[in-house]
Amino acid sequence: MSGHLHSSGNGHATAHLSLSVPVRSDGGNHSLHSPVLVLNASYEPINVCAARRAIVLVLKGVAMTEEENGHFLHAARLAVRVPSVIRLLEYRRIPHQSRALSRKNILLRDRNTCQYCGEVLSSSELTLDHVVPRSRGGTSSWENLVACCHPCNRQKGNQLPREADMKLLREPRAFNLHTSRHIMRLMGRSDDKWRKYLFY
Ligand SMILES: [Zn+2]
Repeated sequence: MSGHLHSSGNGHATAHLSLSVPVRSDGGNHSLHSPVLVLNASYEPINVCAARRAIVLVLKGVAMTEEENGHFLHAARLAVRVPSVIRLLEYRRIPHQSRALSRKNILLRDRNTCQYCGEVLSSSELTLDHVVPRSRGGTSSWENLVACCHPCNRQKGNQLPREADMKLLREPRAFNLHTSRHIMRLMGRSDDKWRKYLFY
C-alpha cells in the first residue's frame, strides 16, 4: 500500500512529509485539512495536525489510525479512510518547552481569531501581524506576532497598535504545552471522537 506513496525523502524525519501523488477527497479539499488529533504511543494527546499529514504518518507506519472521520481520500488507485485520531507507534519524548514558531502555530494559539477585531476566519484569510512593525525593530517572535485579518493588517500598516488606535485582544505569549492542551480540548469539544482522549 505504501508503495504508491512516497514522502519527500529529505531525511528530516517526519517534519517535511508530503504526498507526491495527486490526491482528492470525497469530503472536498476541506477534508485534507481537517484537524486530526495526534496521540503519543501512551495515548497522551500531543498535537493536532492536518488530515493529509496524518495519512502520510499512517502510510509510513509511524502512526496508526485510532478513529476515522468517515471520509475517504483517493490517491492513485488507493482509497484511504481519513483519520480523526491517530496514535504514534513509538513513544516520543515531548519536550515541555515551547513549540516551534510557525504561522500554523501562531494561528492555532490565536484560534484563528484576528487579534484586533476578533473575527474568526479560515487560515487563508488571516495573515500574521508584527505588533511592533519589523521596520521599527520588531522581531519575529511569539511575543510580537499575532493572527490578523487583512483589513486590520492594512489599517495598522507600519504603526504601533496605539498609534493606529487599535487594541490587542490579549498579550501574545509563547505557545507552551498548557496552551496546546487547552486548545486541543477546545477543538475536541466539537468532535466526539476526540473527547475520550482529551477529557479524562
Ligand atoms: Zn481584524
